[in-house]
Amino acid sequence: MAFLTIEKLVKTFGTQTTVKGVDLAVERGEFVTLLGPSGCGKTTILRMIAGFESATSGTIRIDGKDITDLRPNQRHIGMVFQAYALFPNMSVADNIAFGLKVAKKSSAEIAARVKEMLELIKLPQLGDRYPYQLSGGQQQRVALARALAVKPQILLLDEPLSALDAKIRISLREEIRAVQRALGITTIFVTHDQEEALSMSDRICVMNDGNIEQLGTPFEIYNYPKTRFVASFVGTLNILNGRVLDSTSGRLSIDDQEIVTARELGGASTGDTLALALRPEALSIGHANGGSNNLTGTIDEVHFLGSVVRIRVRFKDNVVSLDTFNRPHAAPPERGQPVTVNFTREDILVLDRPAI
Ligand code: ATP
Repeated sequence: MAFLTIEKLVKTFGTQTTVKGVDLAVERGEFVTLLGPSGCGKTTILRMIAGFESATSGTIRIDGKDITDLRPNQRHIGMVFQAYALFPNMSVADNIAFGLKVAKKSSAEIAARVKEMLELIKLPQLGDRYPYQLSGGQQQRVALARALAVKPQILLLDEPLSALDAKIRISLREEIRAVQRALGITTIFVTHDQEEALSMSDRICVMNDGNIEQLGTPFEIYNYPKTRFVASFVGTLNILNGRVLDSTSGRLSIDDQEIVTARELGGASTGDTLALALRPEALSIGHANGGSNNLTGTIDEVHFLGSVVRIRVRFKDNVVSLDTFNRPHAAPPERGQPVTVNFTREDILVLDRPAI
């Protein structure tokens, strides 16, 4: 059995069901991210794991033990929130020591643990400072140390980076992951930022409207999205309408031009209409390329962005956007120019719902 097991978890607020029967199994030491748009139920799941919110139905087990109805302080869980939530009138060291004092640990044990935690978050000199004397990133590291000081079984992180500016956010991603790996602590991370999820997680659980849409590694989620929602929420995507010419060989038609996919057609038959997707980075511009797919069209928009030039190519009803590298000595792409867009058979994502 996995270390954290959630079964058929439901949460209803009044008449609104926010979490609609979620099943999730997280292995010991794993870093799993709940990723989804605002309001899809991520925080509610985290709060039910922590015990701040009761489950309407379903069970939560840690290491085989049913904790669904335990009080928060009986669950041995550490949590870090979006807002730093440090005690403003306590020093950094006292903030970190807080849980250990509540647990009535000896002062020698507390001092040793605080020192260890300050080293872990790379702020060994700052124990005597107060939260207002720290940057946002430092405060969030202290919040992490405070959550970890009591040696929780599971670490819950609720958008801990979203209040920080972009540069700090990226360096803290790496630090949080390094601390998590060093301790081997099972972690659930909540974010609506797809790049954060892709760069930090062992597995990502993409959520939509109270349900899990897909659970997989970042590689699987990005390259093999199972639904249109996952495909468009994670990464940038061109969506095209295609028709199945032959379901056995994977031959498709886009605006009367033939292409071939190496992907499963999701049960579609010859003659069906399908939604297809192509990542911009899978596309290149050139001459008709033997062995791969080619679609000819016309450039109908050009945006010069410096290092890249973003262009839009129209075939007939379908359009795709892609980036080409800026080359100072070559003629830039121009509106109205005919071009051939190349991509491989593996690059075509077949989305779940047929296009209308
Ligand atoms: P965000 O990224 O905005 O925090 P989220 O995916 O974490 O989004 P939740 O905070 O879990 O979403 O909220 C899901 C839904 O449940 C929202 O519609 C929210 O209004 C509702 N909700 C959450 N807590 C309560 C509550 N205590 N009472 C009533 N409704 C609530």
